[in-house]
Amino acid sequence: MPDVTDQIIERTPLVAGNWKMFKLRGEARAFAHALAAGLDQVDEVDLAICPPLTCLADVAAILAPLGVGVLAQTAHQAASGAFTGEVSMSMLVDAGATGVLLGHSERRALYGESDGALAEKVPAALAAGLEPILCVGESEAERDAGVTEERLAEQVRHGLAGVASSLASDVVIAYEPVWAIGTGRTATPAIAQAAHAHIRAVLEELFGAAADEMRILYGGSVKPANAAELFAGPDVDGALVGGASLAVGDLLAIAAGALAR
Ligand code: PEP
Repeated sequence: MPDVTDQIIERTPLVAGNWKMFKLRGEARAFAHALAAGLDQVDEVDLAICPPLTCLADVAAILAPLGVGVLAQTAHQAASGAFTGEVSMSMLVDAGATGVLLGHSERRALYGESDGALAEKVPAALAAGLEPILCVGESEAERDAGVTEERLAEQVRHGLAGVASSLASDVVIAYEPVWAIGTGRTATPAIAQAAHAHIRAVLEELFGAAADEMRILYGGSVKPANAAELFAGPDVDGALVGGASLAVGDLLAIAAGALAR
């Protein structure tokens, strides 16, 4: 019988592009066709796009059949109700989404997406059959105060409080230090790997062996020039990319960086 302690878990790298509030539908469709044409360059990497809601169905129609994830950038935890401006998980499924980004630092800071709400959103996404990417990350002040590990553990524990171990491997975590998002400042590979190893240790406390199957992405000013060195960390399983995901060539070049692992 094989010794399970000797098994090496291979996690397929995932590179997800968060378009934020950029691209009209025509631009989104053109991007999706161009990405479809380049997929064979990076067939050992999973790819996903998080388009604005207005383009989600268009992007999903082109890319989801090719195995590319199409994620909304947020969603409400309730199945339906009087929540003007919100959309539910089942509405996203209906529009063709395969997943949903949750807890992005811009949603947390600008729209009050709280750890309490995320504790409901992550299980609601899983129940609807969506792959959630839960974003966590410390602010610059928290890093300077030496409370990074505490803050990350708190966000992970809250966000995953309602997730059963049997479903844990369907959840992706994105470590996004707030000070590195959209600033051009990237965490060093050593800072990223240390944070990812800490997050995986917290996941092990919560889910035991399933933690080894969970993907932890790095996000924060990832570009073609720095992707490969960031992906070298053994606990860095891909990237959540903002600005550089708006150009299809850059997104493919970042994904190619994951092939060198
Ligand atoms: C993001 O929005 O999740 C992000 C990481 O942005 P950027 O790559 O532009 O820093």
